[in-house]
Amino acid sequence: MSQAWETVIGLETHVQLRTRSKMFCGCSTSFGAPPNTQVCPVCLGLPGALPVANGAAIGLAVRGALALGCTVHPKSIFARKNYFYPDLPKGYQISQFDQPLATQGSLSFLSPERGAVTATIVRLHLEEDAGKSIHDRFPKATAVDLNRSGVPLIEIVGGPDLRSPAEARAYLQTLKQLLEYIGISDCDMEKGSLRVDANVSIRRAGETALNTRTEVKNINAFSFVEKALGVERDRQIALVESGGSVSQQTMLYDAKESTVRPQRSKEESHDYRYFPEPDLPPLVLTPEFVAEQQSELPELPGQKRERFMAQYALSREHATVLTASRAVAEYYEHVVRAPAEPQSAANWVMTEALADAKDHQEQLRVSPAALAQIIALVKGGTLSNQAAKRVFAEVASKGGDPRTIAESLGLVLVADTNVLAAWVSDVLGAHAPEVGRYKNGETKLMAFFVGQVMRASKGKADPKLAQRVLEEKLSA
Ligand code: ZN
Ligand code: MN
Repeated sequence: MSQAWETVIGLETHVQLRTRSKMFCGCSTSFGAPPNTQVCPVCLGLPGALPVANGAAIGLAVRGALALGCTVHPKSIFARKNYFYPDLPKGYQISQFDQPLATQGSLSFLSPERGAVTATIVRLHLEEDAGKSIHDRFPKATAVDLNRSGVPLIEIVGGPDLRSPAEARAYLQTLKQLLEYIGISDCDMEKGSLRVDANVSIRRAGETALNTRTEVKNINAFSFVEKALGVERDRQIALVESGGSVSQQTMLYDAKESTVRPQRSKEESHDYRYFPEPDLPPLVLTPEFVAEQQSELPELPGQKRERFMAQYALSREHATVLTASRAVAEYYEHVVRAPAEPQSAANWVMTEALADAKDHQEQLRVSPAALAQIIALVKGGTLSNQAAKRVFAEVASKGGDPRTIAESLGLVLVADTNVLAAWVSDVLGAHAPEVGRYKNGETKLMAFFVGQVMRASKGKADPKLAQRVLEEKLSA
């Protein structure tokens, strides 16, 4: 690919809000119910049915806007976005248009190419989801499931601030982390509760104007974000380099073929004939309501990372790993408070605990108290690091008290100098040439002797004590 091109990407992210009921009716939002069992006259769009806005959804949307540093407007307007599609029984979607809930925020993330980048959040508005067309249920026919019709969403429109597919992925990862932290959505792309469309254009490096963009849709798994955008970028570059020009289109990503194909020429907003929703009053938020949502926000990931670095003297890298999810961050802090030395706790959480969680549906199976105890057993010389890992695995799978388990597995280190002295004598007796070289000044052989003692003891010798006994014997 030519170096002379720069990619410009802006993401529009739809996020399902974590509510029990839909945006404008009382129907359940739970996932996986049989088709068309969670519907009523409002979300079916039957004539005469009237929508009522869901206060819980509005609260969650405001929290999202505040976490993104947006200005939350005291008055916003619901609007009808008119279009025809089989999964849209009303013939319009209730969204927000010229007076959205919130505008002008930002999201800072770590770009793999440019380091820390602050991307603009242009706007955040409330809307309802459409239903779902199902193409694989009946042969040669399409079915429609309206369970999702009317589910509350926020749409988060990012500015054209991203410069590569990898950067778009990093942005989305950071956005997802933030939304999960504040608990307003489960952000599960596979269940459709996080969906992303991307506006993509290219320009010559150094240009500042924006060229004609396409919109890439149907990116339905997190792992496809970077790939889909790379495919579209490459398509545009090839097109322009062969003398063509990009036209404003909606492109559908096909993950199986790793291609994009045009779906339709992209609409302009006037095609939707937006107008204020006559069945809903303006959405008016009191300062008290907004303040209440603000008070519900937890410490955000960036703040937590900075605090971990300051409070526990952790590197940025370690603090980043430990604050990647709220659950891991809380677990780590519980281990430290158990108590355990912060850096040792960090090492254990980042290696053993996270590796174990990865294999067990993200469950942190060893309690913070038990992990702190294991760390203490290593620190106190009762367990070697290797033995401690075995105890950790045992506690993870079967539970129980670390000390008892260490004893029952025969892993407790031997700190009895008489027993150690016997192993040391055996080792020195078996390695006369090395003993000679050591006595002639080759002191780095100490590591070798300690290793041999560990071997002779099948890992049970306390290595620090073994070294002391070795030093005594070798200087005698
Ligand atoms: Zn309903
Ligand atoms: Mn939308």
